[in-house]
Amino acid sequence: MIVVGGGIIGLACAWRLAQKGVDVTLFDAAATGSEASWAGAGMLAPGGEVEEDTPHGRMATASLGLWPEFVEELREASGVAIDYRACGAVEVALTEAEAVALEEKAALQAGMGIRSEACSREGAVAARFYPDDAMVNPREVTAALREACVRWGVEIREQEPVREILALGRGVWTTLGRYADKGVLLAAGAWSSRLWPGARESRPVRGHLVSYREKPGALGTILRHNGTYLLQRTNGMLIAGTTTEHAGFDRALDEGAIADVRRRAEGLLPALAGQEPVERWNGFRPGVDGDVPVIERVPGTQVWLAYGHYRNGILLAPETARRVAALVPGEREETSGVS
Ligand SMILES: Cc1cc2nc3c(=O)[nH]c(=O)nc-3n(C[C@H](O)[C@H](O)[C@H](O)COP(=O)(O)OP(=O)(O)OC[C@H]3O[C@@H](n4cnc5c(N)ncnc54)[C@H](O)[C@@H]3O)c2cc1C
Repeated sequence: MIVVGGGIIGLACAWRLAQKGVDVTLFDAAATGSEASWAGAGMLAPGGEVEEDTPHGRMATASLGLWPEFVEELREASGVAIDYRACGAVEVALTEAEAVALEEKAALQAGMGIRSEACSREGAVAARFYPDDAMVNPREVTAALREACVRWGVEIREQEPVREILALGRGVWTTLGRYADKGVLLAAGAWSSRLWPGARESRPVRGHLVSYREKPGALGTILRHNGTYLLQRTNGMLIAGTTTEHAGFDRALDEGAIADVRRRAEGLLPALAGQEPVERWNGFRPGVDGDVPVIERVPGTQVWLAYGHYRNGILLAPETARRVAALVPGEREETSGVS
């Protein structure tokens, strides 16, 4: 099986497929884990993301439930340390109208098993604590996944973009040559639909983040208000986000977007006022139309699709990999459906 794309989705799927006995070669146009999965903040937070009882909401809660075991297994399989904490999240309402909306959302979420309880926060009209929301450092996760893949025999070919997927998924053309295989899994994030015309369109939705150096433990939980959030790595790095921009694949840092993130972050945590961020960056969320990512086999072919995780690809990675491994037959299973 050829996996196209070595972000968190392609790597997690490659690892699970290799564990199932599938021979996997993974191609990445650049270095693995260097795009959206490098840029992501790493919130594993259905409490902040799920506002309706939809397939996406249910996938989010299912995937959150897989994370503790996933991270434990991955640490062991790779030997790489991963900063993962079930730290919880506090969401604040700053107006009466926001307080009503927060209560309504919490009531709906409770019906889906997303727990929260009222709490107090200085300066807020209302606040809720979400005990199950968590965070992880996605850069460590992709480094660990890469190592786990290598240990499970996955061949990783970086700086080798796939140019074309062969008819019916019988292999790929890359910039260096033609590779025949039994099937192809397309997991190239925002770039995916370029490689399989007819697939649901993927498009980049740019987001900017900044980080500040803070005393470790300064922020116990994720803190969020509408589209603004703060979270802190165990090493003290405090991350603030974010923006939602339709700017194509333009990687240039937008000083206006960064100033906006800083202003909102300082509003949420006044201690940040006047502090210069130590890092600022952006990345391309893989957006698609519809509620859920594309995770399916293209009928009548040996092509599988796994992309379009938009704002939640870190959260959804374990469940995506589980679903893909269930869809793709093992080496000794029948691969029916190709004419
Ligand atoms: C600012 C920001 C904040 C975010 N915060 C969170 C968060 O807190 N929690 C959360 O769950 N999610 C978050 N996300 C979303 C999450 O990062 C993404 O949904 C996830 O990383 C998508 O993973 P992916 O593997 O599909 O894509 P990517 O990580 O983009 O990987 C795609 C890979 O495909 C490769 N590729 C592209 N074209 C080709 C080709 N032709 N041939 C071979 N390889 C190719 C690329 O080089 C890349 O490595 C955030 C995203 C951004 C941008």
